[in-house]
Amino acid sequence: MSRAFNFSAGPAALPLEVLERAKAELTDYKGTGMSVMEMSHRSKQYMAIIEGAEANLRTLMGIPSNYKVLFLQGGASSQFAMVPLNLFTAKKKADYVNTGLWSKKAIAEAKRYGNIRVVASSEDDTFSYIPELSASMFDPDADYAHITTNNTIYGTLFPELPETGNVPLVADMSSNILSQVYDVSKFGLIYAGAQKNIGPAGLAIIIVREDLLEGRGLDFCPVMFHYKSHADNGSMYNTPPTYGIYMAGLVFEWLLEKGGLEAMEKINRDKAALLYDFLDKSSLFSATVKGSSRSIMNVPFVTGSDELDNAFIAGAEKRNLKTLRGHRTVGGMRASIYNAMPVEGIKTLISYMEEFEREHSK
Ligand SMILES: *Cc1c(COP(=O)(O)O)cnc(C)c1O
Repeated sequence: MSRAFNFSAGPAALPLEVLERAKAELTDYKGTGMSVMEMSHRSKQYMAIIEGAEANLRTLMGIPSNYKVLFLQGGASSQFAMVPLNLFTAKKKADYVNTGLWSKKAIAEAKRYGNIRVVASSEDDTFSYIPELSASMFDPDADYAHITTNNTIYGTLFPELPETGNVPLVADMSSNILSQVYDVSKFGLIYAGAQKNIGPAGLAIIIVREDLLEGRGLDFCPVMFHYKSHADNGSMYNTPPTYGIYMAGLVFEWLLEKGGLEAMEKINRDKAALLYDFLDKSSLFSATVKGSSRSIMNVPFVTGSDELDNAFIAGAEKRNLKTLRGHRTVGGMRASIYNAMPVEGIKTLISYMEEFEREHSK
């Protein structure tokens, strides 16, 4: 068997142990004589899978009991609409921080339903930093304030959460959920598409404070976009993405076996430091993000020459270092190093970079 070191930003690498277990259980799940894919979502066996997944996610993230966990379809992008459709009050106003393409999409969608104020932006410098935020920048009368905790394309991470007082903080955490410890009680709502750091595409996870499900929302919100329809039915208002939830559940078990999010955060910080330390010393490669805004999940870097970037990526493919091309708006390379990327993957990448640097610095 040959497994690549897959640096894809998403859908992204999954832990081999998880894939092996799914393979072992694929055609006959625990003696049921059927695959999880073939199982009624209301069966006893499936209920144990979804309830187990939720319980383990609650343990991992320390989710307080006054928060609902929803397993929905539609990716993170549906949340760009669901958040305003559900969280607007009669005021219909919200504050957004613009830190990249995903923020921009969230802002554009929310603008269709209400008054959106962009409180800060890093667009002036290709989103290569997280703007300074202070409590006074946020409207105390807004229905909610929205951030993108980790910016997948540009490789930036909020070094700390903004202080928004009583205004519920909403976070698109698609590319760094489960990568570090967050205090869930600081948020009104967290959402994430699964395909970066949780499991296969097709599943989105929403963690929402219960009081936000009452007395808010726009009348015309479609029932499938209504959080409460799903919350009141244990994510079974309709058929949930059953296999994706099963896979996410296996990833949660794997994370618990690894020691939980505190242990993962340490591993992730160490992994990212290896790569950034190399980039900061390199005479050929450099990171596009500086200082405290650096992501520990997505690391964009460049040589400064398109020709060398292309040669580097072609050579990487031959060495089984896959999907390193950067997003078209940034160029160069991007190494996405989610939970499932082993430290050996980073070390192999760095030794290839050293070799490439030696060859091209003459
Ligand atoms: C990938 C990504 C999205 C879009 O996710 P989909 O599931 O494809 O809709 C949104 N936000 C962030 C931060 C992402 O990384």
